[in-house]
Amino acid sequence: MAGVEALRTVDLHKRFGGIRALDGVSISIRDGEFVGLIGPNGSGKTTLFNVISGIYRPDKGDVYLYGEKVTGLPPHELYRLGLVRGFQVPRLWHRMTVVENDATAARDRKGSGPLAALLRRSEWLSWERSSLAKRVVDVLHRLSLARVALNRASELSGGQMKLTDISRALMGEARVLLLDEPTAGVAPRLAQDLFKVLERLNREGLTIFVIEHRLEVLFNHVERVIVMHEGRVLTEGPPEKVAEDPRVLDAYLGS
Ligand code: ADP
Repeated sequence: MAGVEALRTVDLHKRFGGIRALDGVSISIRDGEFVGLIGPNGSGKTTLFNVISGIYRPDKGDVYLYGEKVTGLPPHELYRLGLVRGFQVPRLWHRMTVVENDATAARDRKGSGPLAALLRRSEWLSWERSSLAKRVVDVLHRLSLARVALNRASELSGGQMKLTDISRALMGEARVLLLDEPTAGVAPRLAQDLFKVLERLNREGLTIFVIEHRLEVLFNHVERVIVMHEGRVLTEGPPEKVAEDPRVLDAYLGS
């Protein structure tokens, strides 16, 4: 799949009243890439994610996923097509175990909703033999969560909650993962660990596009960085190039 384009946006515009949150954003991410999105507060990063993931419709412009135009499709349709989004504040079922959180995420993908969580409890005995169980176990190992598989979500550390949120996202057949500040509220050492897990998922073939404020962590792991400023792409390139670009420093200092 080398060279295949996973995600493309063409000239995206999005206004909120008088604010141009997106002012002509065109980006392209290849299948299998690990790309960071940075920029000062208010530069449009979250809005870009919201438009890509179908939460907002753009005023103008288009989004393509593996060459297919997906502009304006709702999040659950995009999920079905392999685009998944992890949230800054993990959306977990706190009284359920990590395993149960993952299993219900797989159910949700079929559109059966939260009711599935209740049904699942009664199916527990046959569950262990199912292909769903295999998928859950596989995802837990990939995310280094096997050790806490039977802990309730409420007992997890901040970093483990983030990983569990990502693991739920991966219960679908995710091809492109969007993450909005995965290390927010996570201790510095664990932030590095979290990015190591992401790097591993990326090596296994997952395309990852991540907003991250901790540049020292991000720059160690991604292959390319896109910099936004005032609703536009200011520059992009390998982390070492972007780090030296005086325009990037100016954008941050000027904000
Ligand atoms: P970033 O994620 O880079 O901090 P955002 O995309 O959150 O930037 O915001 C870009 C601009 O759009 C900001 O000026 C912000 O205040 C504005 N904005 C974002 N979302 C909304 C909204 N739902 N309503 C009004 N203004 C918004």
